[in-house]
Amino acid sequence: MATGSDICDVVVIGGGPAGSTIAALLAEKGRQVEVWEKDPHPKFHIGESLLPHTLPILRQLGVLQEVENIGMRKYGAELLSPNHRDSVILYFGEALDKSHPYAFQVRRSDFDEILFRNCQENGAIVREGLEVKAVQFSEMGPVTLRAIDSSGRTFIKHTRFVVDASGRQAFLGTQLARKRRNPQHNSAAIFSHFEGVFRHPGKDAGNITICWSDQGWFWIIPFQDGTTSVGAVCWPSYLKSRKGTLESFFWETVRKCPPMADRMREAKAVRPVVATGNYSYHCSVMSGPQFILIGDAFAFVDPVFSSGVHLALNSAIRGAEVVEAALQESSGLAETRKEFERSVRQGIRMYSWFIYRFTQPAFRTLFMAPKNFFRMKEAVLSILAGDVFGKSPTTLPIFLFKCLYYIMAAIHPRINLRQYWLRQGDAHDTQTWTDTLSRGKSQ
Ligand SMILES: Cc1cc2nc3c(=O)[nH]c(=O)nc-3n(C[C@H](O)[C@H](O)[C@H](O)COP(=O)(O)OP(=O)(O)OC[C@H]3O[C@@H](n4cnc5c(N)ncnc54)[C@H](O)[C@@H]3O)c2cc1C
Repeated sequence: MATGSDICDVVVIGGGPAGSTIAALLAEKGRQVEVWEKDPHPKFHIGESLLPHTLPILRQLGVLQEVENIGMRKYGAELLSPNHRDSVILYFGEALDKSHPYAFQVRRSDFDEILFRNCQENGAIVREGLEVKAVQFSEMGPVTLRAIDSSGRTFIKHTRFVVDASGRQAFLGTQLARKRRNPQHNSAAIFSHFEGVFRHPGKDAGNITICWSDQGWFWIIPFQDGTTSVGAVCWPSYLKSRKGTLESFFWETVRKCPPMADRMREAKAVRPVVATGNYSYHCSVMSGPQFILIGDAFAFVDPVFSSGVHLALNSAIRGAEVVEAALQESSGLAETRKEFERSVRQGIRMYSWFIYRFTQPAFRTLFMAPKNFFRMKEAVLSILAGDVFGKSPTTLPIFLFKCLYYIMAAIHPRINLRQYWLRQGDAHDTQTWTDTLSRGKSQ
């Protein structure tokens, strides 16, 4: 069955933050856009902590006030470590650019639905419960998409351009056999929402807390309604040791880390504990004459710096320029595509350096005693705030921070090398521990 008119300008696969954003921008320009989303909104999604530099994008989309209404203000990140007596709070207001002092913690079912309805209000046609099954490219003609709805009916549509925003399913990357797992990084997360988790009073109530542990690290993300998202990110070698249910394993992991056990003393899960694994990958292609990959559909590295939604929205904004250039058959298309790919890779690269070293002892030492020599602290805070697309002069202070890190690692070579080799071993060990995860409920 064909849907609506035979051919449209753009079909977006997936109505998550990336898909809804690009659809809103293109529909606003008068393009005929359809968004095909397999799971109807509102729906659970992990990834609830936003970054300050995402807020101008939400303002541009016209949804900032709505997000503020459902969000909890996050002024900073608190760092906890079992090896340090006191925690450290890093405030975004102390970054190089002091004009973005806070972000929001959001329940993703609410946040994603706001963005999705917004693209519909801008004129995009949204189809929920429609799962794309195949995309066929032809040399000269339009792209053909085949999808199936929840009652098993097949939909066929022709479009001039296709945007893959299918998230970690990485639909096109998988179909084109271009999805690659990250050989440098490998971990999994076990998480749920809880009531009764410790919260600071006043301005610090909405901070994200990141706590290192011997098994990986934890996040604590407070919501406006008093509940809290808590997740344990663990090494594959540790996950392989799991014996009981995911829930009992989660609590066992919390108990192994005294500062977390303290914060969770009175906590109770309000949803089932679930797990997700093998989440670090990228695709070896990002765009073609009739398609682009945006957000997680292109790559995802790690949740530790809460950069996923920020990178997804930025790639949607740059991606919209590529789609426009392609639809206009502009002579600048090649240059626009190049700039899109460069900026997406730059964002991912900025976070990757920090992500790969986050659990190194030298890194922890630097973060637990932040110093602002040569504006290093301000520059690191700028990265944490999402200022990664060249707006602030971070290059020199970040270079100095990296040098300092390597000096610290060289001063204590044994513990840093040991941790490095352990992580490398984990990065190459996928099969057995993904089996371990699938014994519980995965997300
Ligand atoms: C454990 C964990 C914790 C995280 N924490 C954070 C955090 O605190 N902050 C943060 O910013 N990011 C976080 N992230 C990352 C964040 O969740 C993602 O980067 C973000 O959701 C990417 O948005 P997206 O629109 O690209 O993909 P998604 O949000 O995944 O949206 C993709 C959409 O496509 C739909 N879809 C998939 N396949 C098809 C198909 N075949 N047909 C139709 N529809 C389809 C899906 O149903 C989905 O709605 C975390 C990730 C993980 C794994």
